[in-house]
Amino acid sequence: MKNRRNSLLLAGLLLVSVLGKAQDSVVTRCASTERDSVRLLRNPSLRNLRMRSEGAIQNYLRANSGARTNAGETITIPVVVHVVHNRTDNVIGGAGNGNITDGQIQSQIDVLNEDYGNTSGYKGYYTDSLAVDTGIRFKLVSVVRTYNETSQFSPITDADDLADISPAWFTNRYLNIWVTRLNDRYLGTSQFPVVSEITDRTQGLATSENEETDASTDGVIIDFRYFGRDSEAITSRIYNLGRTTTHEVGHWLGLIHIWGDSTCGTDYCDDTPTANTKNETTDVSCTPVYSQCRGNAVTRNMIENYMDYSPDVCMSIFTNDQKERMHAVLALSPRRAKMVEYSQLTTDQLLVDIYPNPVRETLTTNIFAPDFENYTVSVYNQKGQKVTEDAVNRTYLNVRNFPSGLYYYKVTTANQTVTKRFVVR
Ligand SMILES: [Zn+2]
Repeated sequence: MKNRRNSLLLAGLLLVSVLGKAQDSVVTRCASTERDSVRLLRNPSLRNLRMRSEGAIQNYLRANSGARTNAGETITIPVVVHVVHNRTDNVIGGAGNGNITDGQIQSQIDVLNEDYGNTSGYKGYYTDSLAVDTGIRFKLVSVVRTYNETSQFSPITDADDLADISPAWFTNRYLNIWVTRLNDRYLGTSQFPVVSEITDRTQGLATSENEETDASTDGVIIDFRYFGRDSEAITSRIYNLGRTTTHEVGHWLGLIHIWGDSTCGTDYCDDTPTANTKNETTDVSCTPVYSQCRGNAVTRNMIENYMDYSPDVCMSIFTNDQKERMHAVLALSPRRAKMVEYSQLTTDQLLVDIYPNPVRETLTTNIFAPDFENYTVSVYNQKGQKVTEDAVNRTYLNVRNFPSGLYYYKVTTANQTVTKRFVVR
């Protein structure tokens, strides 16, 4: 009898431990690489562009190896958080509720600033010698809450759906973060930047249809259960400190997983030791992991790096090479470069720049509103009829189906309006 009760107790304990473990072990930290593979399949020319992008980054890093001017300044990235939830009553907060609190959102901004500023406090094996302040900071500008009946989204294929439900704010001005419930396997995902050489002639801006499409989904997507810290909505004991977002924003700034997404692959950063594979584990004691990638030499993996898959508590490093790579991307990616330029403006004027003019296919727009003030964009024809819905994201406007003629591009904030004329031919 006693034995049977003990074995029942044991079975119960085992069940609890298996369930507890299963809950945390089935997830994959990041879907960015898989999402990217799908993008490449749909658009094979992107592979070529990606290779040229890598070349542009390497050239930039070589050319700037003495000066490193950009890496010396602090850049503040304005952030818009899109909360897409399925609570019909719109109640905010509480366990299991995707309509997360403002407190949880602000906690994520705090985590980003600590991690990118190297003030997170954790001291791992590599931290003292190699962790740096990246010179990148984040400022919450707006929270947009939208109800949608969808119970969960795919981080690999549903970026377009999320962008339809809660349209991105200008992606050459803001980092857009969509927070929602993802398929249970994944914590988050992001869109890799397109990098090109910026010249006076092109202003670095492509106007192909793909660019247009990519602009509307440019940002990161995070499951609300892993967004921020210290919230009832966060139940994982492994991914509970907001580092899923730190990791995904790293991809958005051009960083690659430290194992290079292949056995002993490269992330193009010399100061992250080559790793055999990802550190995908439920071990929150941060046990050392070793790799043997070159001959017989055994090296210690940098499991503390934000671009590994380690549990949140084990992460605390961006290296100097990663910092310089991010700053190279901020200089070379057209949308990121424009964002940086705007983040340094101090004027109180609403600025609107549209081109080319006349235009045949795609009108490109740059808008600067002081103090991150909200604004809407609408387009009118010569008769004063509105030809587009009001929107907050018109970085690219497809005019191929517009009858040729004169149009007005109108941008409105609470106290300022700027109207620009353009010709479609
Ligand atoms: Zn990743």
